[in-house]
Amino acid sequence: MSTPATTSTAMECSWKSQFEVSLELVALRIAARQCNTFTKRLGDYVFTRPKVRPIIADPEAAEGSGATRLLLLSEAVRGLELAELPVEVREFALAEGAQPVRYTLRLGYEILTAEQVLRLLLPAGIEVPSAFEQVGHIAHVNLRAEHLPYKRLIGQVLLEKNSPRLRSVVNKVESLSRDGTAADQRTASDEKAWRFRVFPMEVLAGESNLLTSVRENGARFELDYREVYWNSRLETEHKRIVEQLGPSAVVADAFAGIGPFAVPAALRGASVYANDLNPASHQFLVRNVEINKVASALTFLDVFVGAFDRTRWTAPLPRVHCYCFSKADDPRADVIATAERLMGCTLPDATAHVTGSDHYDYLVIGAGSGGVASARRAAMYGKRVVLVERGPEWAEGGERVGAGYGGTCVNVGCVPKKLMFTAASFLESAEESVGYGIEHVAPPRLNWPALVKARDKYVERLNGIYARNLDSSGVERVVGVARFVGPREVEVASAGRRLTADHVLIAVGGAPTMPEIPGADLSISSNGFFELKEQPQKALVVGSGYIGVELAGILNAIGCDTTILCRGNGVLRRGFDPLITEVLNDELVRSGVALRTNSTEVAALKRSADGTIDATLGSGEVLSGFDCVMFAVGRHPATAALNLGCTGVTVDEAGRVRVDDFQWTGVDGIYCLGDAATTNIGFELTPVAIAAGRRLADRLFGGLAEARIEYKNIPTVVFSHPPIGTVGLTEPQARKEYGESNVRAYTSRFKPMHYALSDEHAKKPMAMKLVCVGDEERVVGLHVIGVFADEMLQGFALALKMGATKADFDNVVAIHPTASEEFVTMAPWGARHVDAASGASASGATIKPTPPPRR
Ligand SMILES: Cc1cc2nc3c(=O)[nH]c(=O)nc-3n(C[C@H](O)[C@H](O)[C@H](O)COP(=O)(O)OP(=O)(O)OC[C@H]3O[C@@H](n4cnc5c(N)ncnc54)[C@H](O)[C@@H]3O)c2cc1C
Repeated sequence: MSTPATTSTAMECSWKSQFEVSLELVALRIAARQCNTFTKRLGDYVFTRPKVRPIIADPEAAEGSGATRLLLLSEAVRGLELAELPVEVREFALAEGAQPVRYTLRLGYEILTAEQVLRLLLPAGIEVPSAFEQVGHIAHVNLRAEHLPYKRLIGQVLLEKNSPRLRSVVNKVESLSRDGTAADQRTASDEKAWRFRVFPMEVLAGESNLLTSVRENGARFELDYREVYWNSRLETEHKRIVEQLGPSAVVADAFAGIGPFAVPAALRGASVYANDLNPASHQFLVRNVEINKVASALTFLDVFVGAFDRTRWTAPLPRVHCYCFSKADDPRADVIATAERLMGCTLPDATAHVTGSDHYDYLVIGAGSGGVASARRAAMYGKRVVLVERGPEWAEGGERVGAGYGGTCVNVGCVPKKLMFTAASFLESAEESVGYGIEHVAPPRLNWPALVKARDKYVERLNGIYARNLDSSGVERVVGVARFVGPREVEVASAGRRLTADHVLIAVGGAPTMPEIPGADLSISSNGFFELKEQPQKALVVGSGYIGVELAGILNAIGCDTTILCRGNGVLRRGFDPLITEVLNDELVRSGVALRTNSTEVAALKRSADGTIDATLGSGEVLSGFDCVMFAVGRHPATAALNLGCTGVTVDEAGRVRVDDFQWTGVDGIYCLGDAATTNIGFELTPVAIAAGRRLADRLFGGLAEARIEYKNIPTVVFSHPPIGTVGLTEPQARKEYGESNVRAYTSRFKPMHYALSDEHAKKPMAMKLVCVGDEERVVGLHVIGVFADEMLQGFALALKMGATKADFDNVVAIHPTASEEFVTMAPWGARHVDAASGASASGATIKPTPPPRR
């Protein structure tokens, strides 16, 4: 996209106008005094968007009367009859005299964040520079060369989006590289920059006046940002040193700047001697002494101007606090060596406390889906972030206890599983292709070690990418097991580190639960599945949740004799629509899986004489001959090693950290998300952890006070054979929530055309269901099992999230010939009867189809 000009108002309007959208909403006209009551009662049904007020003036109210307001409702509410509201809420609204009306809300540039606007405006591939350091009313950005052609635009957007707290946006004109310029080649401005660490800067947008004031550690400072050095990110470090000083301390601050150490130290009662080489700093130091009324405690010593000139200071040295940065591997040694070089003597009593590296804005535990996403987002906001990951680790018994960069998903979950699913699907496709004239010269077979080698190489590559992405985002990585030693203090013993932070995120994920039975060591978990060096020939999979189903499906598809042991009457009995589970259970049996339903639990495992494993069930029955027994009986949060007892954070009976909807634990500055948090029960999914992580960082550091993930209508796929896609409510859930008579379900079962020419035994079934509620037939659940269901779901999930109705589905022109077209052609498709002959049917109340909306 080309850069819009920013000088002319007309052109400015034109580039801003590209962000404009109109939303057709339903609003309630209510009395002004009812606003609070209605907002509370309507809860999630009130329109929410950052920077948009849901209560607005009533355009039809008599001028100046102010008696009524419009309360905007969420986009889920589509009709004036308010059918989408729960019955009791609708009845409340009508009983209180609310009048539903249509309202067109025009939104645009003003509701987008700076990052969103710049992402749309800057050419693809350019990183969005939305982070800045704030000094008083000034935002200081560090633009790279690639940003310079757009610098005024960037400045304008940052200014407008952060107004009124910001009034100027500046960029450093030249870089620090001049530090290396030889003394005789420096210009006057070089010299000033080199000596005082102040840099020429240009104002990109807003006021050119850079005289500002900041508050830090209980003091107020005035400064001219062009003339003196100031770094807001050092506040914590300043505080740490100042807090060590009591009233009896005598402080000599030779690089006092404008007073970030000297003034707070004087405020604490210490006697302070200070000065600075930069005359402008000295001038502001004097001013700040006045402002903070510490003149009696702070003395200016000229001797400090050039204090390290040993010809001027012959007395024994006082205790010198040297504050500096080091990137050396051993910062302590580096700092002392630097001090000795500058002082021209050895300093045998010198000690170095590496303060800067131990306190952070954000400390994240766990480099899995949620932790990495949150850490990187926080770093994007310019925060100092550290992330602790224990890395791939194995317990003494051989069980994997740490995942490594990318967490469960990358190392022992979604990614390796999907690769194996794909391999199994290729084998199945070969079988399906036979009727299409594809001749197989030899039957295809899986080379397990080759697959495992390629898979592991791919995962290793991803580990590297995750680590590099953290580095390039500026997140510091620490390897080791994190353990709390205080509410916001964490020890990583193996790395010899104690880390503190203003905010701490627990994102430690979970681990497979294994039974404590005799012979348990003969079995594996899902983690162990990814360590199998050879293809199992006969496998027992204990457990019927989605992980058991997926891994058993892979084994069965590659020709392993597979048994699934279910406690109930089939697999996936919780959280899935009955239509889907019925089709899947039938298909598992048809495709050759031995499905043992209503089974008692495995009581013991034993190695038999021929080397295979026998499983004795609680009933006494013995199942024998397995070379692989895998337990997929659930997962538990990995919180035990965290020593949460010392934090005040509470956990539920399973060990999950209790959090509110905003991932907050209730303890100041401690949060939890992903598989370790109570919010995720039933949503243990990578994208859920990622979304929660980003929203949390947006809320803590990005100024989006209401940012949080909505744990509703989250689409999910089970990579079974065939795959399942599901979003929203199952039919039984909808009937329970909305009442029997308000729910209508449309279903369809068929053999997809994909298998039209395949051999009969290779054909897999397909089934779909739309669960609709109310007269308007809003789709609240969508379920599919069959070929390509995994790739089909995302778009439909969007429609559901946007509040689509059955009529909206009917109004989409089908894509033919595909399996997914069935969703938009389900009977009665605009007709007034159920077409029994089509094989599709609607269950529930009498059908009153709504005509497709005109838009
Ligand atoms: C077999 C399997 C298949 C799956 N398939 C899918 C799928 O297809 N789609 C999907 O969306 N989800 C899938 N999931 C679920 C998904 O992997 C998880 O929901 C997701 O990884 C959870 O992310 P998280 O951030 O909570 O934690 P995790 O990704 O588990 O990361 C936690 C990290 O914390 C580290 N850690 C733990 N304790 C400490 C400590 N004390 N100190 C330092 N580091 C620590 C761990 O080593 C780990 O790297 C699957 C899971 C499994 C097991």
